Amino acid sequence: MTDFKREGSHLAYCPPVEKWDDWVELDPEAWPRRIEKHYQLVPTICFNCESACGLLAYVDKNTGRIEKFEGNPLHPSSRGRLCPKGPATINQIHDPDRVLYPMKRMGPRGAGKWTRTSWDEVLETFGIRIRKAIQEGRGEEVMYHVGRPGHDFIMERTLQAWGIDGHNSHTNVCSSSARLGYLLWHYADRPSPDHANARFILLLSAHLESGHYFNPHAQRIIDGKMAGAKLAVMDPRLSNTASMADYWLPTYPGTEGAVLLAMAKVILDENRFDATFMRNWTNWEELEVDSFSARGQSFESVIEALKKHYARFTPEFAEKESGVKAEVIVRLAREIATAGSRFASHLWRGSASGNLGGWQPARALMLLHVLTGSVGTEGGHNLNAWNKFVPKPFKVAPPQKRWNELLYPKEWPLCTHEMSFLLPHFLKEGRGRIEAYFTRVFNPVWTYPDGFSWIEMLRDEEKVGLHAALTPTWSETAWFADYVLPMGFASERHDLMSQESYAGKWIGFRQPVNRVLRERAGEKFEYTHQANPGEVWEEDEFWINLSWAIDPDGRMGIRQYFESPYRSGEKLTVDEYYGWIFENSVPGLPEAAKKQGLTPLQYMRKYGAFEVTRDVYKQNEKALSAAELSVSKVETNGVLTKEGKAIGVMVEGRAVVGYNTPSRKLEIFSKTLADWKWPEFALPEYYRSHIHRSAHAASLGHPGEGFDPRYMPVVEWPKEAGGEVYTLLPIFRLPNLIHTRSGNAKYLYEISHKNPLWVNPVDAKKLDGIRTGDLMKVHTEIGYFVLHAWVTEGLAPGVVACSHHLGRWRINKDEQVERMSSAWVDLKEVGKGQWKIRQLEGVSPYESPDPDTKRVWWSDAGVHQDITFPVHPDPISGMHCWHQMVRVERAGPGDRYGDIFVDTNLSFAVYQRWKALTRPAPGPGGLRRPLWMPRVVRPEEAAFYIHD
Ligand code: SF4
Repeated sequence: MTDFKREGSHLAYCPPVEKWDDWVELDPEAWPRRIEKHYQLVPTICFNCESACGLLAYVDKNTGRIEKFEGNPLHPSSRGRLCPKGPATINQIHDPDRVLYPMKRMGPRGAGKWTRTSWDEVLETFGIRIRKAIQEGRGEEVMYHVGRPGHDFIMERTLQAWGIDGHNSHTNVCSSSARLGYLLWHYADRPSPDHANARFILLLSAHLESGHYFNPHAQRIIDGKMAGAKLAVMDPRLSNTASMADYWLPTYPGTEGAVLLAMAKVILDENRFDATFMRNWTNWEELEVDSFSARGQSFESVIEALKKHYARFTPEFAEKESGVKAEVIVRLAREIATAGSRFASHLWRGSASGNLGGWQPARALMLLHVLTGSVGTEGGHNLNAWNKFVPKPFKVAPPQKRWNELLYPKEWPLCTHEMSFLLPHFLKEGRGRIEAYFTRVFNPVWTYPDGFSWIEMLRDEEKVGLHAALTPTWSETAWFADYVLPMGFASERHDLMSQESYAGKWIGFRQPVNRVLRERAGEKFEYTHQANPGEVWEEDEFWINLSWAIDPDGRMGIRQYFESPYRSGEKLTVDEYYGWIFENSVPGLPEAAKKQGLTPLQYMRKYGAFEVTRDVYKQNEKALSAAELSVSKVETNGVLTKEGKAIGVMVEGRAVVGYNTPSRKLEIFSKTLADWKWPEFALPEYYRSHIHRSAHAASLGHPGEGFDPRYMPVVEWPKEAGGEVYTLLPIFRLPNLIHTRSGNAKYLYEISHKNPLWVNPVDAKKLDGIRTGDLMKVHTEIGYFVLHAWVTEGLAPGVVACSHHLGRWRINKDEQVERMSSAWVDLKEVGKGQWKIRQLEGVSPYESPDPDTKRVWWSDAGVHQDITFPVHPDPISGMHCWHQMVRVERAGPGDRYGDIFVDTNLSFAVYQRWKALTRPAPGPGGLRRPLWMPRVVRPEEAAFYIHD
């Protein structure tokens, strides 16, 4: 447990747990009078990103109102610290514009007229529609589409209990390229770097301020740095992270793979690799490259083959591609080799999510770990599966029998996640329809590329029969729903979460603060919405009740999974769901609770988090037990199998568990890629991005050196697109913003509400001498947007940049929705598929129960850029490749700030051009997807085969 006081200090930096029931502070509003305020402190976890940091809600004991949120010192991952978004939860729960009651649309979809309805009506309406679809064999027409999950496993369990393949996520606009790169090496699709113990840290995006594991990672990167680690950051933009680094490498976007492979070449050529590690833990015996086959060859000859293969990645070549000096590349390669097993790195979004082939930098980065033997080590690269703990609940349904091609279509057999951002195009192509659609903390109209195609899909009742937006806030997507269903923020719901944030395993428990406190005082609640503001509910209870509404008498076999494990035939409660998990599935928790005279559920309600273990390194070297080995056999490649399934591998005469890959080793050679029609990428390679300079030239009719139409689509500019060709970086975020949910966090919006176009002074000169504040028009392949320029040296020349998370809009002026963050706009379809948005009014002060809304001093809501981007599905990972080739020019006399135009006919054509790059299933044996690869809500094995 964390110490509460700094050594030698009389000041507590976090209240000690003994005082959480009556914590006394002086009322700052009463100053200079010294008036005491008494608080009860209740732990929960933040819901504003996936890091799941521990919060403490400060509840005024006189009024019962939550007054603020601070860090929970007992949370093992966040250790009492938060980023600005955690404390801003207070704004979200007290926001006067939030959705408080279930709403039902009146009039046509998207007209913006709503009336209040009841939860019973919602449950009955959806229960009947879903029951009918499942009974008629149309279960795949029921789709749950999640933006911010904020929980582990409960939805997978729910959908499998319904027997449907209906889970859709946002992951393919977020992280799936990086995931594929890692997965091909070691099955786990995410890294868990041990930054705190590293000697050298290499980051391929802005982790200190906006990475997926933001606050928990940031503090451990600083721990590592304070203990002497060097930090290098590859990012074309001078992020806050780059500004703290020892080395900033402003690579031209998409060329990171060339730099990483050049570093690998230096380590190989200078024989500074860990030969023992590579010999024992890579599948070098399977290598086939450049007419060389490792079969029957020595390890040394394989190393020679690798040296030959990577010979072309000279530091000079990497310099030419990336702009990073060759001598810097050599110096860093040597520093990484010196750090050896204490080399940590992270790649999540950045180059992976921006670029075509963005999964290759993850492959190349892992090659550096394999060469240095820094996999599974203290201070090195660990696997997310080793540091994330997802306990199993009671009674899990068997896998579903069907495969939903709207989620995993044949064209992308190796995609790590659902092809979610192509849904409007799939429906346009007639691949299916949706009967009941749940969007959940998800705003694709605004956060996805090609949002107008989403509007076209959502307003078409033939394509989407019934749509409920489960959301804590109003959103651009909610405007086009049939129902808007208010769901709770961090202090209004139950969830169980864990993340791979350091070298340890932990769980965090989110809980509804008011309900917990009132139940402590003896009140009883059937449902959380009875204790929450208005009728704000939580998803757990919603899904339990909806499952009962689908199968009221239990005859469909669904209800059994939502009945109490303690009271036969009775409806499951959240206390029972989590209580059972804490009693049965979390090692060490029952014992820790017992020591304090608590039940495991009481323990989690009291502390909010529990550390399961710190024994996490080298899990691949875990010996198989005699029982596991009984009736197993050793295959010729050393893999141990039992009943036809791989269970481990022989390494230096020991039977160990290994990795979950086909070879049970780290796969430097991916036979999977070779077998699934991409043999040229079986080794880590450099894939030139769609925004490579040669592609710029190709878009102007004269393809440059390196352009290859087998791998890169040609951009076709709309007729009216003028100006210079640039690469636009649209994927960085301002560190205090939270996608859609910062809209009702006044502290956060006051800090950042503008997203200008970043332009280097060199480019500003080329662009007609533009200055900060000048109005610019940025043309994409399907339309344009208009915004102000910001001339800055914080960006490499040759690229422009614009942050996402800003540019919120609303279509009704005076509706009480997101007024401090959105512009009132005129949204028009001016021709078939041709859409225009013009801002009519920016943000201004307004009357509300919160006096601060009268003090709003900013007028800018930013400009919505994502809606002007076409979809760019990577042909292998399926990831949307976010970087855009754009043409930039001064805005014309008819252009106004915030103007947007898009032609969805063009966006459909771009989709077709990218789809043409794929190499569809079936793969070997008629498979849709390799059986060894993970899949979200995995169906039964028979569903993996294509039968017709
Ligand atoms: S990093 Fe910030 S937003 Fe994310 S969970 Fe932690 S406090 Fe919340």
